[in-house]
Amino acid sequence: MKSNLPAVLFALSLGAGATSAAEPVLNLYSARHYQTDEALYANFTKQTGIRINRIEGKEDELLERIKNEGANSPADIFLTVDAARLAQADALGLFAPLRSKILEERIPPNLRTTNWFAFSTRARVIVYNKTSLTAAEVQDYQDLANPKLKGKVCVRSGAHPYNLSLGSALIAHLGEARSEEWARGLVANFARAPKGGDTDQIKAVAAGECGVTISNTYYVARLMRSPKPEDQKTMAQVAVVWPNQKSFGTHINVSGGGMLKTAPNRDAAVKFLEYLASDEAQVYFANGNNEWPVAKSAAVRNPALEAMGSFKADAMNVGDLGKNIATAQKAFDRAGWR
Ligand code: FE
Repeated sequence: MKSNLPAVLFALSLGAGATSAAEPVLNLYSARHYQTDEALYANFTKQTGIRINRIEGKEDELLERIKNEGANSPADIFLTVDAARLAQADALGLFAPLRSKILEERIPPNLRTTNWFAFSTRARVIVYNKTSLTAAEVQDYQDLANPKLKGKVCVRSGAHPYNLSLGSALIAHLGEARSEEWARGLVANFARAPKGGDTDQIKAVAAGECGVTISNTYYVARLMRSPKPEDQKTMAQVAVVWPNQKSFGTHINVSGGGMLKTAPNRDAAVKFLEYLASDEAQVYFANGNNEWPVAKSAAVRNPALEAMGSFKADAMNVGDLGKNIATAQKAFDRAGWR
């Protein structure tokens, strides 16, 4: 019995907000855990008097948890990263449709759907070793499948949401057959079997184990801003290319979230999402993970992102990114990108 006590207390404390008018609460399930988030949440409570119960976890675990809790879930908001995951939650019918004038005014149309909203963006860029390759050889995602780069490509698993979202965008622009062919060429160019995350690939590129990889911008920015000498050494060996500037633009992904269909505190949930789109919250939200804010008026000064320069972003709608995820997964499977 004793071991169940904390869980019971926890459930009671979460449930209290739904019934007590005295203290409004918001139950936030978040896959984000950055230092700046503390200020983000504290300011929301200061402004609205709404206390935030934060449940943090790994992206896929939180989604599982919401699924398992079902209609009894205390969750009001689910925040996570990558359009593939948001689309997955949406496909499971977890989000409630939401019309909000504030969200529609603050978030560009391609960065929101009827059920969930992006609050920051990141780009998926090409990172290459300056000694073994030139920028001209790696201008587009398609270049990484060029047989000339045989034995030079390192990249994380094709089953990872970041690559599935990229695959989904490629399918939208190039079609399924050409995207599968691309994945096949990419696999044929592998320096090693996929392992590790984007940062591991950048380090392998810098070490000369491979010549080129694909990475989210915040990993690049994190290494650029790192005070560690080994990270500075890594970054001295590599350079970044904004892919597909002469065609559809660099693939963009997001952090985002939405209100859950079973949200017990709907008013608080709407207020929270609208708060996340405010200039103040946007700065915290974007800075927490070296991302860009979605609201144009939010001014973020991030020296690492600024050093990477400006670029043409793929204008594809983030909701549409979710549509080809399953197709991308099957195409990558057939191409042997595991
Ligand atoms: Fe990540």
